[in-house]
Amino acid sequence: MTMNELKEMYNSLGISDEVYDYAEEICEKISERFHKIDKIAEYNQLKVVGAMQKNKVAEAHFAPTTGYGYNDLGRDTLEKVYADIFHTEDALVRPQITCGTHALGTALSANLRPNDKLMYISGKPYDTLEEVIGIRESVGSLAEYGVLYDQVDLLENGDFDFEKIKEKITPDLKVIGIQRSKGYATRPTLSVEKIGEVIKFIKEIRSDIIVMVDNCYGEFVETIEPSDVGADMVVGSLIKNPGGGLAPIGGYICGTKECIEKCAYRLTTPGLGKEVGANLGIMGTFYQGLFLAPTVVASALKGAIFAANLFAGHGFKVIPDEKEERFDIIQAIEFGKPEGVIAFCKGIQAAAPVDSYLTPEPWDMPGYDAPVIMAAGTFVSGSSIELSADGPIKPPYAVYFQGGLTWQHAKLGILKAFQNMVDDELISLK
Ligand SMILES: *Cc1c(COP(=O)(O)O)cnc(C)c1O
Repeated sequence: MTMNELKEMYNSLGISDEVYDYAEEICEKISERFHKIDKIAEYNQLKVVGAMQKNKVAEAHFAPTTGYGYNDLGRDTLEKVYADIFHTEDALVRPQITCGTHALGTALSANLRPNDKLMYISGKPYDTLEEVIGIRESVGSLAEYGVLYDQVDLLENGDFDFEKIKEKITPDLKVIGIQRSKGYATRPTLSVEKIGEVIKFIKEIRSDIIVMVDNCYGEFVETIEPSDVGADMVVGSLIKNPGGGLAPIGGYICGTKECIEKCAYRLTTPGLGKEVGANLGIMGTFYQGLFLAPTVVASALKGAIFAANLFAGHGFKVIPDEKEERFDIIQAIEFGKPEGVIAFCKGIQAAAPVDSYLTPEPWDMPGYDAPVIMAAGTFVSGSSIELSADGPIKPPYAVYFQGGLTWQHAKLGILKAFQNMVDDELISLK
């Protein structure tokens, strides 16, 4: 294949020569960073394979179970594999956990009782958590059950506000929540190292406080996870990083035996806990997705860094910036006007393997406080480890984009988004 043939292939998918040439310049510039990402993926691949071998994962573990799901070996072994990867005493990894919000809601409600206080120390939590906690009034929230809530914002520079945290550690404080990823906020993502420092600080004040980390989008980005630095629970979604693009549903909670036991009784019911929950035949996708997750995460990271450099080169504010180290797979790009967000998302959609002919429009999504436009032409509906972009239609008109099961596809999607903005005269290549 000549470079010309590759370029022609891009042309046939709607990428102009000018955009292609600019992209190649950027790729040249960031090759060293790609090498580092591959090394982290290599480390994490070994970690995952090692845990599978240690627990003697076998073909029999992929067999479907139905009904109550007593003695479901596939499910129980997978939970052991997760516990080994995250270095925790136990884990809950199930299709009955419907999504990340559900996993987080379960972890919180399982470990909080009336009059206990929950405090987030990474600022306002992810939008959907506001209803779980009751920051925004909602039926069945923790607030309805008498759980108190407090919050400490991050400092201007993105660091934890140690002083304020210490001030607010009252006797009724039971759980501290930390969100690793920025979610829909334009703040820096927290490194596992930084999370470790604050956990150490908290535990020195009161060792019995339960620290829960919302690990969504962070898994396998670094070689360590928050549970390696003292978190009592790490929680996330299987239709993000650890599902590797193959898990069609699910969430996980890894943590101490005591916390996980409470989560299990909350997820199913008191008395039954971990003992029930048939796997319905999707265990193969959970195992295989986990196996692929380190390299899928690497592809997504490459896409994020590529996009940051591509758009920063045209004067857009990108968070993280084009040179920054990465601690999650999300890339935020601020366009300053709705047209930018919409053109970008339409480009991502047009590059998808599935539903590429559809045009995304902003809509009032449940759980969010502004209309959101979402681009996701995914195999698993709504999966955001697959190349996807979303942007709430509110200032600063930022698009949050993430995922890419392969780097090659992430690249195409980003180029399509860029091309769309060039075509709409929101970007000039002159
Ligand atoms: C996606 C996400 C969630 C919620 O997960 P869902 O699977 O969408 O319910 C929570 N926290 C963060 C930081 C997230 O990125």
